Amino acid sequence: MSTSLTFLGGASEVGRLGTLLENDDGQILIDYGLKPDNPPQFPMPAPNVDSLLLTHAHLDHSGLTPSIASSGTPICSTPLTIRLAEVLAKDTLKISQQEGYQEPFTKGAIAEQNTNHFSHKLKKEYYHSGFSYRSLNAGHIPGAVMYHFPELDFLFTGDINTVNTGLTKAAKPVSCKTIAIESTYAGRDHEARSEIESHFTDSVEDVINRGGQVVLPAFALGRSQELLMLLRKLDAEIWLDGMGREIANIFSRYPRDLRNSGLYFDTLKRTKIVRSWRQRDHAARGDVIVTTAGMLEGGPVMHYLSKIRKDENSAMFITGYQAEGTNGRTLLDTGKARLDRNKASPHFDIDCQIEKFDLSGHAGHSQLIDFIDKCQPENVILFHGENREDLAKDLGDYKVHLPMEGSPLKLDS
Ligand SMILES: [Zn+2]
Repeated sequence: MSTSLTFLGGASEVGRLGTLLENDDGQILIDYGLKPDNPPQFPMPAPNVDSLLLTHAHLDHSGLTPSIASSGTPICSTPLTIRLAEVLAKDTLKISQQEGYQEPFTKGAIAEQNTNHFSHKLKKEYYHSGFSYRSLNAGHIPGAVMYHFPELDFLFTGDINTVNTGLTKAAKPVSCKTIAIESTYAGRDHEARSEIESHFTDSVEDVINRGGQVVLPAFALGRSQELLMLLRKLDAEIWLDGMGREIANIFSRYPRDLRNSGLYFDTLKRTKIVRSWRQRDHAARGDVIVTTAGMLEGGPVMHYLSKIRKDENSAMFITGYQAEGTNGRTLLDTGKARLDRNKASPHFDIDCQIEKFDLSGHAGHSQLIDFIDKCQPENVILFHGENREDLAKDLGDYKVHLPMEGSPLKLDS
């Protein structure tokens, strides 16, 4: 039977992934996301597929799930992923209304996403719309999976991390003939995770010891909770603010998706949660505040930044990716930042300590090669990357494909 794979988005770029898998018996989508740009960008329109398999709940993978669900299409994922995708979808609607963008789906479509949901258990084999598959831990964020299609001898990684983090266990290689693997970090390697983590916690401790406060702008989903896990051993008053609060609660309802749920619950117990505006002033006097938005484009972090910006004893540590043109990127490049979300506002000098720590949830260049080597495939399909050629040139032993959006690739067992 002839099978083809077509990227509707997210092949040659990071963001708005949509992958169409077709054979004579059916059509399925793997992920259908959006790029949260200004305005948001979407993949090519999807045909009326039989089902949508979600790897994980990040906007660039799950952001348009409601628009697929609204035509009655089953959405397949782990139970945790669909809960998280729902929170993100509601936030997308809110931002669309605030910014005056056209809403990509209705509130009703978010409800349909839940009604039409089909839950996966890890490692169990399922059959849908002409494809049998199983989902396997991807190590990227809690609930994230890779998809393995045994009949095709094909592995689709979604986003993967191949080292343990506080929240997640490393993804394990799977023997396969063809692997489609993300390439976010093509051409770039991470320092050893344990070294970055100890440099980070030591730096936080230094600031506290000198009487300052540490503000940690962080993405709500995964990074906020990960930072809390890293800091749990410190004798410090640690606060959590922003959308990370809701996500932290959801994680605690799915302990099996966490690497060590005992440590996670212990971490949450030690964390003070900001529950009202008045509490923001208490939090602003604490030692550490973990809060959204991760790229300093609005949210409670702006309040805390205004409080510490002139205090040289205090610090803002950036631990996530800062896209070109964002307030966070400007701060790293120039030492100046806006203090509110309005793009037209002036930039102010930020005198507190600013430092960046690379705590990525994606495998680095050498880790991707190592993972591929252990899967022992014949064919390697690189997607989700802006520098895929850098990775391709180090994969001389394999038949490497760099598909472009909209061009089908034959995938036969
Ligand atoms: Zn992701």
